[in-house]
Amino acid sequence: MVVQVKRRRRKKRIVVLGGGFGGVYAAIHLEKLLARVDAVEIFLVSQDNFFLFTPMLHEIAASDLEITNIVNPLRKLLRKVEVLVGEVNEIDLPNKRVLISRGYRNHSQEIDYDHHEIASRCHSAARSNSPAFGRGKF
Ligand SMILES: Cc1cc2nc3c(=O)[nH]c(=O)nc-3n(C[C@H](O)[C@H](O)[C@H](O)COP(=O)(O)OP(=O)(O)OC[C@H]3O[C@@H](n4cnc5c(N)ncnc54)[C@H](O)[C@@H]3O)c2cc1C
Repeated sequence: MVVQVKRRRRKKRIVVLGGGFGGVYAAIHLEKLLARVDAVEIFLVSQDNFFLFTPMLHEIAASDLEITNIVNPLRKLLRKVEVLVGEVNEIDLPNKRVLISRGYRNHSQEIDYDHHEIASRCHSAARSNSPAFGRGKF
């Protein structure tokens, strides 16, 4: 069963996909830009509930830092953005909706949107385990 993410009446919805550098900074920018605009809601979907500051990853490997120094909870970084932790399975561009699976039991959810931002390392071949971003639904 696919559950629809409820939409607040008369609000435009922006969905940001990915909680890495691209997604988090896009969401922070949108938060600031739309701080006084009540008619917009912003969602961010990411597999992880945290933002990882990769440039300092080598310091973890060298035991110079604790992992908690380079990991930040997304919900703490993005106070006005609704964070959905889950995997993006499909992006349906013509119908403006994204299918995600969430939680221990992989519940399917559908989120429709007015505008979207894809920021899931889509410009790099480094991460190939995200079929939704490589497959041709869009
Ligand atoms: C060790 C290391 C050091 C680096 N140092 C530097 C540096 O010094 N300077 C520099 O400019 N760059 C550096 N980089 C590169 C930099 O980290 C990347 O360029 C940057 O993270 C890319 O940002 P992104 O948002 O496209 O992807 P990412 O930051 O990888 O974010 C992708 C996000 O999408 C999510 N995601 C992926 N697939 C799905 C899915 N199917 N469903 C839901 N969510 C999904 C992931 O969970 C993640 O949150 C470094 C990288 C590494 C690994």
